[in-house]
Formats: sequence, structure tokens, C-alpha cells
Amino acid sequence: MTAIATLGSHCALQVLKGAKDEGFKTILICEKKREKLYRRFPFIDELIIVDYFKEVLDEKCQSILQQNNAVLIPHGTLIAQMSSEEIESIKTPIFGNKWILRWESDRGMKEKLMIEAKLPIPAPVLNPKDIKKLVIVKRQGAAGGKGYFMAASEEDYNTKRNQLISDGIISKDESLYIQEYAAGVLAYLQFFYSPLKGELEFFGVDQRHESDIEGLARIPSEQQLKSDKVPSFNVIGNSPLVLRESLLEEVYNMGENFVEAAKKMVAPGMNGPFCIEGVYDENAKFTSFEFSARIVAGSNIYMDGSPYYTLLFNEPMSMGKRIAREIKLAVESNQLDKITT
Ligand code: AMP
Repeated sequence: MTAIATLGSHCALQVLKGAKDEGFKTILICEKKREKLYRRFPFIDELIIVDYFKEVLDEKCQSILQQNNAVLIPHGTLIAQMSSEEIESIKTPIFGNKWILRWESDRGMKEKLMIEAKLPIPAPVLNPKDIKKLVIVKRQGAAGGKGYFMAASEEDYNTKRNQLISDGIISKDESLYIQEYAAGVLAYLQFFYSPLKGELEFFGVDQRHESDIEGLARIPSEQQLKSDKVPSFNVIGNSPLVLRESLLEEVYNMGENFVEAAKKMVAPGMNGPFCIEGVYDENAKFTSFEFSARIVAGSNIYMDGSPYYTLLFNEPMSMGKRIAREIKLAVESNQLDKITT
């Protein structure tokens, strides 16, 4: 029997509920401090209690997962808390492509893959001296928007960077990534690519709510001008969005181009869930500033099925359940190696 395991954070509840519904044993790698929370949910069969998530790399944890024939579902917490080398060294089969997670974490590689996928990306700014328009300054890795800031000139950049260093939010020698700020309606496009069927599915769209950039928008400009705090883009939660139907064709094209590019650049390609993140401008033109090469927490809003999956499945289908369904099909047809790395 196969089990499905994940780290206790991000979208673990959705993933394990979906796994249980598909008949799998469910295992949660859970930090001691969150044990009480996760024990509330009866669909979690076994908890492996750890002090830190990094213990997933230890022999003890790996052997429990191995005994259970577990498949590990990667999510944002795995990427945020472990280096690419550490993730790649995990012996437990990882759902999707663990090699592509490095391309998500490294800004340079990320940009390369997005260009290959023909995604319209905001212009990168290589040197703070070249800041001529409004830019957003980002940290490396899946920092969740914490410590990001906007700047309109080199001077502005230096002032804000120094302030964040003295506040202990970013470090002095941290390399920052600068790109043009794209204004518009935020849309995080969620997909699933099934290597078993060779098909791309569009799952849904979410919007992220980020603090305290959103808080800033709720106060009058007079007060905004008096504030010298550097606003951050720390994700607090997500809400659903549906797109104008006329935009769907391009959405599928972007997803397909991404799958194509990933196949070419990083074998075995973009298998499983992924997300293309960006904004629509006043002409409904999409600019993409990011991708996630695994399930995103924004899919948590559709635990009972998304609007677009309602069109594809005659049953409530969450992303967690979709992942479990793919694993079930692979187990039944002896193709687990096709959907894991
Ligand atoms: P990211 O880590 O790249 O997903 O960025 C975190 C947040 O920063 C996003 O959810 C957006 O709100 C914002 N953001 C990132 N890049 C841009 C951009 N180029 N233009 C506008 N907003 C951006």
C-alpha cells in the first residue's frame, strides 16, 4: 500500500484530505508546536513529530516514509526551509519534478525558464543605478514577499534597503533581485499537468492578500505620505477570482508553453500542479512575475472543487485530491516512476 506524506504547513490539510478521500494512508511530518492543531483532523493517520522540518532529511524520518511506501508532496514550506541540494537529496519519491524546484528558487534560472516559456516578464533591472521607473525589489527563494520593497530611484532604493537592513529584515550581503513594477489586477493562475494523460488542466485563479501593502491602500494619501515604514508583501491569505471567459484561451496557451519549456529545460518536465503568477493591465495584457513549480497555497480556497474543475470533473475535486488521483492511477498502472522523482 502507498501512503501520501507532506510537511505540516502551507496546504497540508487539503493535500491529506484529498489523499484520504482517494483511499491512501496519510502521514504528516509535524513540528511539535503544531501537533495540537493537526490532531484535530481525523483524516491524518500518522504524525511524525519533529523539532524542525529539516529532520525529514534524517535517516529516522526517511525510513518511516520508506516503510510506508510514501510519496512526498512538496509545497512552499519545503522550498522555503530547505536548500535545493537538501531537497534533491531526499530519498523518498517526491511527487512531480524535484529538479525543477531549484528553478523556482533561483532567480536567474527562474527568469531563463520564463523566457523559454515565452511568458511576458517585467524587465529586470541589473543595477540600482538603472532604476528609472517604479521597481519592486525581491529577495531570493520563496520568501513569501517578506522584505520586498518598491523603489522609484537609486536613492530611494538605497534608503529603503538600508532601513530594512537596520530593522534586521534583510541582511547586508543578501543579493536582491530588481524588476519593473507591473500595475494591474493580480491573478495567480493554477494548473495541473498530468504526465499520465499528457494533458494540461486549468484549475483556477486566486488573488493573494499581502500585508502591509494592502493596509497602506486603505489609508488616505495624507497619512501615507507621513509614514516612513517600508511596506512589505507578506502573504496573509487568498481569495478566489474567475476570469473573463475571453482570457481563457491565452491562459491555456501560457500553461502549455510553460509545460513545453520545462520539458526541454529540466527533465522530466513540469509534472503535477504549478502556478503562473502575474497581473492583467488595462488592456487585459498579462505580465508574469513569478511561477511556482508545485502546488500553491492559493489552491486552498477550492478544497471543495474549483469553478474550472467543476467543468472537467463530475465530482468535487480539490488540487490535493487531483494529486492523489494521479498517484492512484500511477500505482494501478505501475507507472509511479513517471510521476515522481
Ligand atoms: P513574488 O514572490 O514574486 O510572488 O512576489 C510577491 C508579491 O509581490 C506578488 O504577489 C505581488 O503582489 C508583488 N509583485 C511581485 N512582482 C511584481 C511586479 N513585477 N509587479 C507588481 N507586483 C509584483
